[in-house]
Amino acid sequence: MKNALEDLRRKADDEISSAKTSEEFLNIKTRYLGRKGLLTNLLRGLKDVVPEEKPALGKLSNDIKNALLEQIESALDGMTSSEKDSSLNKEKIDVTLPGRGVRYGKIHPVTRVESEICDIFSTLGFTVVEGPEVELTYYNFEALSIPEDHPARDIHDTFYVTDNVVLRTHTSPVQIRTMEKQPPPVRVISPGKVYRPDSDISHTPMFHQVEGLLVDKEVTFGDLKGILTYFLRQVFGRHTMLRFRPSFFPFTEPSAEVDIQCVMCGGNGCRLCGQSGWIEILGCGMVDPEVFKNVNYDTEKISGFAFGLGVERIAMLKYGISDIRLFFENDRRFLKQF
Ligand SMILES: [Zn+2]
Repeated sequence: MKNALEDLRRKADDEISSAKTSEEFLNIKTRYLGRKGLLTNLLRGLKDVVPEEKPALGKLSNDIKNALLEQIESALDGMTSSEKDSSLNKEKIDVTLPGRGVRYGKIHPVTRVESEICDIFSTLGFTVVEGPEVELTYYNFEALSIPEDHPARDIHDTFYVTDNVVLRTHTSPVQIRTMEKQPPPVRVISPGKVYRPDSDISHTPMFHQVEGLLVDKEVTFGDLKGILTYFLRQVFGRHTMLRFRPSFFPFTEPSAEVDIQCVMCGGNGCRLCGQSGWIEILGCGMVDPEVFKNVNYDTEKISGFAFGLGVERIAMLKYGISDIRLFFENDRRFLKQF
């Protein structure tokens, strides 16, 4: 036992004197003094020696242990400070160099206008509701009284997923889903993405709409005009002039298109408004009783209006953007301006 201990000490001494890095010293420490180390192992044999020899052997092994520990620790002390010095020398930092500026992200102009629209209608008591972008043809067309032979049903205007599933072409299906779930009164707006296979200076295959629906007792076209006038004046300024033109939509009767006085020329006529002084901004109308029948609302007791508008169109007019595709090219020089 005594020989084994002295042997171990010699070996450890040799290893310590040839070790160079702090990693090597740490390895030696683990190998000899660790919980499963060589010295620890050797000491397990102490229980088998005759009692008279135990104290001397115990003292010897303790001395060896302490001596090794001291050697390693003091070597490590010197080592870490010299390693630290050399790494500090390598990683000199010049605090006088100018800093690198942090670039902040900004809210996309379409998102910004969409939330502005939602905020205005929220103050009028409308709740925001959302629906699926992949939609059954029933909700996208039939329930909204868009018959099979309507031009909007043509394959050229709709992305079909299967025969009876489409990428929604408008946010109007959310009206139907909302009315199916709750009895009147209803006062909701539904913002979201819609899809149509079109691409040019004023069309992209995906764009954003906000749809509004109000159903209650004795709702009139006058209420519709009041709400939309308030809304458009909030967006474009309180002196904005509006006009309502008779129009046709399958799910409203009567229907109207709303124009605002041209934001560019103030009504005098320019290229933007085609010299007319007016710019078409949204579609609206009184909900067709046929639509109410589809969701089992009593058309004798209630009436309502709906409207829909394109978010990109409003953003273009508000910020003077001439090509809708700029919104989706992610050119930072364009996006940085908002
Ligand atoms: Zn104009």
